[in-house]
Amino acid sequence: MRKIAVLGGGIAGVTTALELVKNDANRVTLFESKAHILEGTSARTPGRMGLGFHYLADLDSASQYLHSTVGFARQFPGFILGQGQSHLTRGRYFLVDDPSQRHGLSLPKIMSVIQALQSAYASLCEQDPANQLFGPPDQFFRVLKQDQLNDRINSDKVILGIETCEALLDWFKFSNHLKQLVCHAQNLSIFTNTPVKTVRSIGDYGFYINGEPFDQVVNCTWENMESIAALAKLTSPNTASLRIKLLAEVHLPPALLNMHSSFFCVGPYAMFSNMGKGVGRITYAPVTNYFHTQEAALPQEMASLVTQCAQTPAIEHAGRQIIDGVAQFIPAMRHASLKKVYPGVVRTYGTNMNIYDPQSDIHRRRERGIEQLSPHWVNNAAMKLFHALPNARDAAVLLRADAAHKETI
Ligand SMILES: Cc1cc2nc3c(=O)[nH]c(=O)nc-3n(C[C@H](O)[C@H](O)[C@H](O)COP(=O)(O)OP(=O)(O)OC[C@H]3O[C@@H](n4cnc5c(N)ncnc54)[C@H](O)[C@@H]3O)c2cc1C
Repeated sequence: MRKIAVLGGGIAGVTTALELVKNDANRVTLFESKAHILEGTSARTPGRMGLGFHYLADLDSASQYLHSTVGFARQFPGFILGQGQSHLTRGRYFLVDDPSQRHGLSLPKIMSVIQALQSAYASLCEQDPANQLFGPPDQFFRVLKQDQLNDRINSDKVILGIETCEALLDWFKFSNHLKQLVCHAQNLSIFTNTPVKTVRSIGDYGFYINGEPFDQVVNCTWENMESIAALAKLTSPNTASLRIKLLAEVHLPPALLNMHSSFFCVGPYAMFSNMGKGVGRITYAPVTNYFHTQEAALPQEMASLVTQCAQTPAIEHAGRQIIDGVAQFIPAMRHASLKKVYPGVVRTYGTNMNIYDPQSDIHRRRERGIEQLSPHWVNNAAMKLFHALPNARDAAVLLRADAAHKETI
């Protein structure tokens, strides 16, 4: 049997481990530093099941997101939040009336990307009707009329509103489902409270992880990816940037209980995701984008912020500023009360990290996050939650090829 170490138990690590144990020849050990799996950045998002509307400046990124999300919903049906409740399953996008922030992105260009996405979704449904998980292609999006634009939105700030069939993932239900799957998986051992501290290469034979030998490694440690690979003296060919984002969770005021999730763009302005049961998750770019670096690791203070998720006075203050920021777009949000602020990390490749420029590398996410650093070592960062599944399959294929190669020599 091949011994494979999977490092990190977020959505990337867990789905990779499950994919690898489908092959009876693999024995997989997953190392997670926290007390439980699936509690890192993967648990600190609104879980937008994006169909591409998020990346209107780049059709390739948008279309890749669409394909991953449809593939995910197909493999894991039944995890869409609030099925059948239109305000929970039809996210809205509002184009903000600020040409200075659009950097060459005109209204016709935006509409052409949206129409291309609709055609791509229609093709997926035509290829296989089982792909029609987000409704009929002709209802993929609709342009909102003026009275709908005024609905709870500060319409002075927007020039176009679109309702889409983007929904949110029921993360609580889905993560519990993954936990059940790993509990019942054969040949899979999970070690929580077990940070990867030492890595040593043993040449063609693989790596020692915390002193134990493995034939192959999949590194899914997200913000620690580069520093863990460096322990094995491996470096990525790509320049990654790490960005800490603060996501505020709020109790919604009565006026917003049935409001559609709404995203104010282009450029990163504000986001409201209606999670149901009176809870919203919100971001406001100037406050949410808390820290960013192109170093291989977060500085200690920032790493602790992410690990401990402590609700310090400064973090709570930032949470209230996020509420005020979103209230510029959704006035009733000022009556929301803060529940908790989640610090999470976003990885991006490239060097143009100007969040306010829709053409920057932040808004162009073509990479899914798979990198093979040596024949026996694959880095797997799920650059979006839903890229985790195609990435897991890619990682398994790369390691199988490595094993087959070893058998021939
Ligand atoms: C605010 C915010 C909003 C987002 N919204 C969305 C969205 O709506 N839709 C979407 O698709 N994506 C979204 N994302 C992106 C998404 O969260 C990530 O793409 C995804 O969670 C990455 O998954 P992961 O498994 O790679 O990382 P993680 O979930 O962080 O998993 C990494 C794991 O590795 C563990 N680990 C780290 N170091 C070690 C070590 N040394 N030893 C052992 N274990 C270690 C960590 O404890 C963690 O459990 C959002 C991100 C943020 C921050």
